Amino acid sequence: MKRKHKLICGFNFLTSSSRLLFSSTSLVGQWSCQTSERYKQRVIGLLLELSWVLRLRATTTTISQWRGEALVCCHFFPGLVLVLSTAGIMSALEWYAHKSLGDGVYWIQERFYESGNRANIWLVRGSQQDVVIDTGLGLRSLPEYLQAAGLLSPERASGPPRRPLLAVATHVHFDHAGGLHQFEQVAVHQSEADALATGDNFETVTWLADSEVVRAPSPGWTARQFRVRPVQPTHVLQDGDIISLGDRQLTVMHMPGHSRGSICLHDRDRKMLFSGDVVYDGSMIDWLPYSRISDYVGTCERLIELVDRGLVEKVLPGHYNTFGAERLYRLASNYISNAGVCHKVSTFAMRSIANLALRVTNSRRPTT
Ligand SMILES: [Zn+2]
Ligand SMILES: [Zn+2]
Repeated sequence: MKRKHKLICGFNFLTSSSRLLFSSTSLVGQWSCQTSERYKQRVIGLLLELSWVLRLRATTTTISQWRGEALVCCHFFPGLVLVLSTAGIMSALEWYAHKSLGDGVYWIQERFYESGNRANIWLVRGSQQDVVIDTGLGLRSLPEYLQAAGLLSPERASGPPRRPLLAVATHVHFDHAGGLHQFEQVAVHQSEADALATGDNFETVTWLADSEVVRAPSPGWTARQFRVRPVQPTHVLQDGDIISLGDRQLTVMHMPGHSRGSICLHDRDRKMLFSGDVVYDGSMIDWLPYSRISDYVGTCERLIELVDRGLVEKVLPGHYNTFGAERLYRLASNYISNAGVCHKVSTFAMRSIANLALRVTNSRRPTT
């Protein structure tokens, strides 16, 4: 995709403050060219790497909606500021895509996050309230997408008010909770409420590489900048709570093991289970910082019980495709039968490595 970009060089002798930058920058040159998105990202990346090598303490700032354009500014201390201007930031409509599954359920994904960690986002519409289950990385505005794509009730000056929208996190891992800060109403299980409120990027297992985001959401964006932002939950959930959407009810099931605050949401009437990372059609992950095998075995026993009692026909998981009761039974029973001593030893080793890698990676992340 070809876009028109401008490269503007300027000197800033007065301040490195973004707000004052533009008033104090004297432009010394302007260059316009046709270039690809990938090429532009490479140029920005090279400039930043060069600045680190030369110890120029360069930082980037992306400022949106300045004269209708996005700006990436490299602050080369002292004095030189390089401003890279592009045609615009990717819109929320470009970033997400959705598919209707019928019966008021929509399956949403982040198009340019190409990774096994890309989470499913579910929108469940009710007569009184809509619920978003998980929110992805949050690199573009999910509420804006839902509105622009016509998935929410229209906002009118007169007539009935828009239905409330509640974002529920199945757990606080970064691929599910990254977008929670975009919502006014946020629900999470009580075991992970503190981690979310403090923005604990160790517990959210934040792990993102540039190569996984195949189109940058905004100019100059790098994975190194990404972190789950602190969010004070408005609703703290416990096992057995019922989230009412009016004409449908979602029962909260606390299912620890993958993480300590993992939940499933069960629509008993429709026999649907929104399972997050508790179970999906792939190998279960029990080697993360707050994973626990004994809890996971108990969780799998509950899943089997749901199948035995005929309470689930369709599973809408946190990753990959939907599946049925038979597959759910097999996944849960396989986990239980494999959770022996050998598994515990290898999981202990993997958890130690994961803990170390997450500590090191997240200590380097910016805190703002
Ligand atoms: Zn997870
Ligand atoms: Zn996940």
